[in-house]
Amino acid sequence: MAISKLASDINLANLDCTSLKGVGPKLAEKLERLHIRNVLDLLLHLPLRYEDRTQIKSIASLQDGDRALIKVQVEMSQVKYGKRRSLVCRAADNTASIDFRFFYFNKSQQQRLEKGAEFYAFGEVRRFGFQCNMVHPELTAITATSTAPLLDSLTPVYPTTDGLHQNSLRPLTRQAVDLLDKHPIDNLLPENVQNQFKLPDINQALKWIHTPPKDAKPESLQQFTSPAARRLICEELLAHQLSMMLHRHKLEEQQAQAMHSDGKLQDTLLQQLPFKPTKAQQRVSQEIIHDLQHSKPMLRLLQGDVGAGKTLVSAMAALQAIEAGFQVAIMAPTEILAEQHYLSFSQWMNELGVKTAFLISKLPAKQKNESLEQIASGKAQLIIGTHALFQKDVHYHKLGLAIIDEQHRFGVNQRLALKQKAPEGYQLHQLMMTATPIPRTLAMTVYADMDVSIIDELPPGRTPVQTVALSDQKREQIIQRITTACGEEERQVYWVCTLIDESEEVQCQAAETTANQLAEQLPNLNVGLVHGRLKSEQKQIVMDKFKSNELDILVATTVIEVGVDVPNASLMVIENPERLGLSQLHQLRGRVGRGSIESHCVLLYQQPLSNNAKARIQVMRDTNDGFVIAEEDLKLRGPGELLGTRQTGDIGLRFADLVRDAELVSELQQVAHDLAEQSPQLAQKITQRWLGSRQDFADV
Ligand code: ADP
Ligand code: MG
Repeated sequence: MAISKLASDINLANLDCTSLKGVGPKLAEKLERLHIRNVLDLLLHLPLRYEDRTQIKSIASLQDGDRALIKVQVEMSQVKYGKRRSLVCRAADNTASIDFRFFYFNKSQQQRLEKGAEFYAFGEVRRFGFQCNMVHPELTAITATSTAPLLDSLTPVYPTTDGLHQNSLRPLTRQAVDLLDKHPIDNLLPENVQNQFKLPDINQALKWIHTPPKDAKPESLQQFTSPAARRLICEELLAHQLSMMLHRHKLEEQQAQAMHSDGKLQDTLLQQLPFKPTKAQQRVSQEIIHDLQHSKPMLRLLQGDVGAGKTLVSAMAALQAIEAGFQVAIMAPTEILAEQHYLSFSQWMNELGVKTAFLISKLPAKQKNESLEQIASGKAQLIIGTHALFQKDVHYHKLGLAIIDEQHRFGVNQRLALKQKAPEGYQLHQLMMTATPIPRTLAMTVYADMDVSIIDELPPGRTPVQTVALSDQKREQIIQRITTACGEEERQVYWVCTLIDESEEVQCQAAETTANQLAEQLPNLNVGLVHGRLKSEQKQIVMDKFKSNELDILVATTVIEVGVDVPNASLMVIENPERLGLSQLHQLRGRVGRGSIESHCVLLYQQPLSNNAKARIQVMRDTNDGFVIAEEDLKLRGPGELLGTRQTGDIGLRFADLVRDAELVSELQQVAHDLAEQSPQLAQKITQRWLGSRQDFADV
C-alpha cells in the first residue's frame, strides 16, 4: 500500500483514516462522529472495557452482567407471542441450562436452532435466581471440522456510534497499531515525570491497551490498573488540567475594566439590611471586590451551600461595578429563579436608586422592547434574566460584570455567548455561583482555570433540617404532619413531585393530580401548584401567594429547586427521592430551614429500594453538609450527573475517571503547574494531542 512507501518520519496525526484499508467515505463519516479523523485519533480512541473470549465458561458459573463464551446444545426452541413476538431457545451444557431470546429472527435462523444442534454462544448474561438468559447471543455452529472461536487475549470494546460495529472498529485499530510500530509518536511527558509516576513509553502503552498480550492479567485490564493504562490516564488528565491553565493564562493577557468605587452603595445596602453579613460573606465579598478593582479579567467561582447567602455577596459585587459606572448582568438558569432574583434585587436596588431591568424570552413584546432599550441606553444598570440576556438583539451600553447563578446548569457556549457582550477590546469580569459544592478532583480538572471563593459558614440561628425517609405506603402519616404544621404552627409546606424520566407534560400532570388529592384530603388548607408548563405570570402569581402566606401548601415540580426563598416554610415532602441526585435533593431541601424554626424534610420513597438508593437516602439523613453530599454524589453517580448533563460533554474525559483516578488528579496538579510555567510549548502539544479540535472552549 501507499503508506509503506511514505517517509519513516510520517506523522500519524496527519494521516487520514481514509488511508486505512476498508475505510471509505461512509465509514469515514461515522468515524468523524466519534471525532476520529486521523490515525492518531483512532489510537487515542480507547477501550471502555474488555470482553473475554479466551475461555469457555460453564453456565453454572455465570454471573449477572458477565459477557461470556459458552458451549451448548439446544434442548428445544419455540416462538412465543407475548407483548412482543420472540424466539426462545432453551440450551444447556453439562452444568446448567440457559435461555436465548431473539426478537429479530427469520425462518432459517429458527431452523438452525433445532433440538440437538450445538453452538458456541457469546453474549451478555442476565441472571434471575437460577434462571439464566442471553438476548441475541452471537452463535457459531459446531460442526465436525469447526474449532472453538477462542482468542489468545482479551478483546477491547470501544465507545461507538449508531451503525458502527465493534467488528468494524477493531480491524482499523489493529492497522493503526501496526502503523504505530513503524512510526512511533513522541513521548511528550518529560523524563522526570515518567520516572516519578513509573510510566511506560506512550507507544508501548497504546499497543498494550489496544492489543493486550496473552499474559496480560484480565483484572488489570478490566480495572485499568496496568502501567499502560496509567500512562494514558496521566497524560489525559494532564492534558485537561493544562488546557484549563492555558485558558487561564490566555485570559490573563487580556484587559478588563478596572472598577474603582468608594463603596458608598455597598455601605448603604448593608445599613438597610435587617442582618449583619457573616464573616464568610465579608471575606468573600472582599476577594471579589479586590479582583474587580484590577484590569485582569476576573474568573471566580463562588461556592456556598444552599442558604449560605450568596445573593448578598453577588449584590456587593454588582454594586462595585455599578458605582464605577458599568452595567451588570445576572443570568439565572430558569425563569422562576430569574424572577425571584429580580424581585429581591429590585427591592434592594430601588432603595439605592439603582435601575434594574428584567429580560426573559417570554416577556410581552412591549415590555421586552422597553427592557432592550434601557439596556442599550445604559439606563438599566443591573439586568437580570435568563439566557435571553445574550441573544443577538440585546445590546449593552457598557457591560462590565457578568454574574452567573447556578453556573453548572449552563453550557460553556452559553457562557461564551454572554462574554461576547463585553465592549470591544475588553473582557468581562465573571462571577460564577454554585450551590452544588464542587468536589476537589472536579475543581482541579473542570474548574482549574477559576479562582475559588467559598462561603463556609451559614448565617447564625439556622436550625438544621431534620430529614426522615418514609415509604409511600405511609402517606397518611404525612397528611397528619401537614395538618399540624399548617394548623397549630401556622407554617407552610412544599410538596415536590419528581418524575425524572418522564416528559415535562407527564410531570406536570402528576403534580396536578397530587395537588387535587391534597386539596381534597385537606379541605381547610389552600393548595397551590407550580410547574414548568405554566405561563410566567401565572407562576409568579402562585409564587407570590405562597410568599405572602395565602397558600399553605405549594405543590411543585423540581422547578423550585433553586432560589425560592420563603422562610416560613418548615416542611418539605419530596416524592420519589430515589430518582434524584443527592446534590439536587440537597438543593430542594435547602428551600426549608431558612428561618430559625425547626424544619423537616420527608423523603417519600417507593418500595422496593435498590441498595444504591438506600445508601443515597441514608446520606441525606446523615448529613446537611453540601460538600459531603457532593463527594458522595460523585462516588455514587459520577461527574456527569453531578454537574448536570450539559457539562458532561465539556469534561470530555475519554479514558480517565475522576472518581477512580481521584488520587492521580491531585498528584498531577504540581506537574501541570510546572509544565505550564516552564514548558508552555510542550503543554500545548499535550493538550493538542488529547483535546485537539474539541478545545473550542479554550478560545477566550
Ligand atoms: P443562597 O446562598 O442559597 O443563594 P440566599 O442568598 O438566598 O442563599 O440567602 C438565604 C437566606 O438567608 C435569605 O433569606 C437571606 O436574606 C438570608 N441571609 C443572607 N445572609 C444573611 C446573614 N448574614 N444573616 C442572616 N440572614 C441572612
Ligand atoms: Mg441563591
